[in-house]
Parts: sequence; structure tokens; C-alpha cells
Amino acid sequence: EEQRAIAITADGKHHSYRQLLQSAFKLSSSLLQSAQPTRGVLKKSKDEGGLRGQRVGIMAKPCAEFVAGIWATWLNGAVAVPLALSYPEAELMHVFVDSDISLVISTEEHRDLLQGVAQKCSVRYYPLPSVPSLSNSSEGEEVKDSVSFGNIVAEVKRISSAVEGENPALILYTSGTTGKPKGVVHTHASIGAQVRMLAESWEYTASDRFLHCLPLHHILNHLKFHVKVDFMPKFSTRGVWQRWRESYASEGKKVEPNITVFSGVPTMYVRLLQGYDTMDAKLQKISSNAARQLRLMMCGSSALPEPVMEKWEQVTGLRLLERYGMTEFVMALSNPLHGERRAGFVGKPLPGVQVLIAEEAEAEAGVGELCISSPAMFKEYWRKPEVTKESFRDDGFFKTGDTVTIVDGYVKILGRTSVDIVKSGGYKLSALEIEAVLLEHPAIAECAVMGLPDKDYGEIISAVVVAHEELMANAAAKSQAILTLQELQKWAQDRMAPYKIPHQLQVWESLPRNAMGKVNKKELKAILLNTTI
Ligand code: ATP
Ligand code: MG
Repeated sequence: EEQRAIAITADGKHHSYRQLLQSAFKLSSSLLQSAQPTRGVLKKSKDEGGLRGQRVGIMAKPCAEFVAGIWATWLNGAVAVPLALSYPEAELMHVFVDSDISLVISTEEHRDLLQGVAQKCSVRYYPLPSVPSLSNSSEGEEVKDSVSFGNIVAEVKRISSAVEGENPALILYTSGTTGKPKGVVHTHASIGAQVRMLAESWEYTASDRFLHCLPLHHILNHLKFHVKVDFMPKFSTRGVWQRWRESYASEGKKVEPNITVFSGVPTMYVRLLQGYDTMDAKLQKISSNAARQLRLMMCGSSALPEPVMEKWEQVTGLRLLERYGMTEFVMALSNPLHGERRAGFVGKPLPGVQVLIAEEAEAEAGVGELCISSPAMFKEYWRKPEVTKESFRDDGFFKTGDTVTIVDGYVKILGRTSVDIVKSGGYKLSALEIEAVLLEHPAIAECAVMGLPDKDYGEIISAVVVAHEELMANAAAKSQAILTLQELQKWAQDRMAPYKIPHQLQVWESLPRNAMGKVNKKELKAILLNTTI
């Protein structure tokens, strides 16, 4: 096994596995000490086993301290609850109370916010100490400081039997697209299964370096692949393009450290393309040359519009790999690393995953709810036994709530059964399919299609669109409408069946999106209907 040292790069600082591990050990004993009953803060029943089995909330932007915090939590046999940076105070309170956190840890910058909330919920607060970093010439020092991840796992296992098997490891909260975020309990075993599954399908090796700018709790796993992770706490188009350019000199000459893998959500690629369009020709050339050196770029979380995938390929020569996941099983379907990556499809089951379609009574044959069985499946919704029970079929398959169809073994997501399947005039229509067509309209940059109640049709199709920036500025200057319903309908006539053409159109400056860039259609519907959720 190759000995690697650098685990994480954040804010330009490199941290080795040894540094992370030592910090985690130190922190784990500090946390344990702070949890001692002599402090008189903990309830009696929780005192006996230190932190074992208790929930520890963690808030930090993606950084070494975050990782050390998670490991320290696990070393104590406790369950880590990553807190999203984007949560407003009310949401934080919900998660604190719902997961019944007994301790919360964070980096300095979130201290005030968290201490405040912690006090209100009678939870202890502990600040995350900073993790030492290698000095600047770190690539050279790597050799001296070579503790491999394998060694660390061995050490961690020796010390804590809790970091194994069916014990809960993480409670991840869902994105809250369809309701209040639910706590999803993952065990050390389900995390391990996920790691093996992804390492096999995407061929992660120790020479990979992953550029990471998604909320951390979605991707914590990557450290277990032995890959290096570069954190970019706040996504910016400029920052990402620049990072790629720094990784690879313009004439294709490699400069260390080089990013090999990138993963994003569709809106990130849309914005990266917009950023690319504003560069001068020379910078465009350097940028696309740099991007095409990466071995893999992935996209997921919501539907990747085909025009975006195509333009990305024109600009970088790379075909995006679209995949499908959910907090509940992390990742289950993926287009192949080698072989055809089909636009508009999320691919085939990952190793060990089984899928089936539960057809609804009146639906088209082959269309129905996607149900999944996976070794990486979550254990339960935290303290929601009823919801957990309802989410699984008798045969053990998990019901995703997404409506799909399968063509040549490739799964196509038609949308969430609850908000994306529009029932209009006897038809069941996929909002995602209609959105994909509308995005081909030259004026439309983003759009959300949904069904609104109608007494004649059951539901009518309503579209909210965001126009391309230049067009918006132009139209505003001439005080003209950017796009009218009649124009859109006329354009759509040759492109979709008459019953799929929107009945309503609104042009907005932006769409309401959550931290994962997903449009919150429930919220959008409520705004359109002038009601509250
Ligand atoms: P909540 O469960 O709180 O409503 P959420 O379902 O958005 O939030 P996540 O677990 O982050 O929370 O998202 C999973 C969902 O994201 C899936 O059920 C699916 O609807 C959607 N999704 C994920 N990947 C894709 C993809 N490639 N294409 C289309 N939809 C996707
Ligand atoms: Mg969900």
C-alpha cells in the first residue's frame, strides 16, 4: 500500500494524515474530559459511558478541523451530526432538538452563533482547536511524514471498537427539499460499503486529488479513498477555474498538486460556463486546456440539463458523468466511468445495488417509483420509526419517492412523485422533461415547471423561468418583455406534445434554491398560489 501523507488542503495549507490523526486523538480526550459528570452539566443517565452513543453536532466550513472533529467524535463512540453552514438559527434549533445533541463543536468563526443556540438548548459547546499544517514546501516533506490511511484505520480500530459495524456513525440531515430535514442514521458499516462501492466504480486511487466545494457532510467519504482532498469552502466560478489553471500549466504541462476529480451540482456547471463566456480568448484557451486534464468530472443532486452537458463537452472535451444519490443511501446509480454516458439518464446500479420499479396502478408500463436495495442503505430515520417503516417495502427495498423509467438498463429520473409529476387532463407529465425542452429556448437560462391546481384540467402546467443575463439587461433598457407566454407556446409547438406546453409563464430574476442548489418547488408553488407551506 502506498504511503501517502497529504490528506487535505484547505486555505492553501496542507495537512498530513498524521497531523489529522494526532489532532483527532488529542481532541477526543478533551471532549471526553469536558463530558465528565463533575462538570455537572450532563443529565445523569448520559454520564456513565462518557460520550458513547451520544450525538455531537459539528459545524465548520470544509477544513482539517472538521475532519479531526468527526474522527474525535467517532473515537469516543459518539455519533457525529454535521450542521450545514447555511442553516438559519431556526433550522439549527430544529436539528439540535431533533437529534438531541449533547455537545456541539465548531471552528472559531461559528462560535458566537453556536454558543447562543447551544445555550438556548442547554447543550455544551467546545471549540475545535486548529490542526497543525505542513510548512509551505510541504510536497517535499510528504515523504518524511508518511502515515497512510490504512495505518490510521488500524489504529482507530484498535482504540475504539465503536468505529465498526452497525453502530451509528453519522446523522445526516436531508436537504429539506420536500419538507423539514429528516435525520438519516448511517452506520460505520454503511459508510464503509459506500466507500468500497465508489472506489470500485470510479477507480479512485491514492494519486487522485479531489477538488471539493459542496457542503461537507455530503462528501466526507472521500478521505477514506486515500485520495487527497482540496477544500474550497465557498464555491466561486473564478476560484474553480483558477484552481484548475494552477493545477495544470497552459501547455498541458503538469504542475503539482494537480486536481484529478471534480464533482458539482448542475447550477455550478451553469455558472462555470457563464464564467467561461466572460473570459477573453486567451484565458479561455488556457482554462479549457487545464479543465480537460482532469480525469473525471461528475454531476448530481438534481437533473443535469442536456444543453449544459453538451456545452461542457464543447468547452472542456470532458463528458460529465451524471449520477444519482440520496442522503439515505448516498450514491446508488451512476453512468459508467468507461462506456457510454447518456445525457438525460443517471446511469446504472453501482456494484451491490439492486433496483426495481414499483408501477402505479394507472401509470404507463415501465414507469413508477424507484426502489433500491444497497449495502450502503441507512439504518433508520432518527427517532422516526413510523416514517422509517413506511419508507421500506416488505421485501426490504427502500422507496425513493422518485418516479423513473429504465431504457437499455439506464435509469431516467422523471422527477419527484410529489412535486415533479404533473397530472394534467388525464396525463401524467414529467416536469423535468418539460424543463429540459424549455432550456433549449435561447432566452431561458433556468426554469422550474410545476402543476398548479385547475378545475378543468386537474392541474395546469406553469413555468417560472430566469432569462440569460444579457437579455435581462437589454430588455430592461428597452423596457420590453423578455419572453411572453404566446412566444413561448409558439416556439414549443414544434418541440413538444400540445398537452405538455405550459399554460402559464413568469419571468423571474432568480429561483429559490436550497444549499444544494435545488429548486424548492413546494416553496415556489406556495409563492405562485400566494399561500404558505
Ligand atoms: P428532502 O428529502 O428533505 O426533501 P432531498 O430529497 O432533496 O430533501 P437529498 O437526499 O439531498 O435531499 O436529495 C435526494 C434527491 O435528489 C433524490 O430523491 C432525487 O429527487 C434528487 N436527485 C439526486 N440526484 C439526481 C439526479 N442526478 N437527477 C435528478 N434528481 C436527482
Ligand atoms: Mg429526500
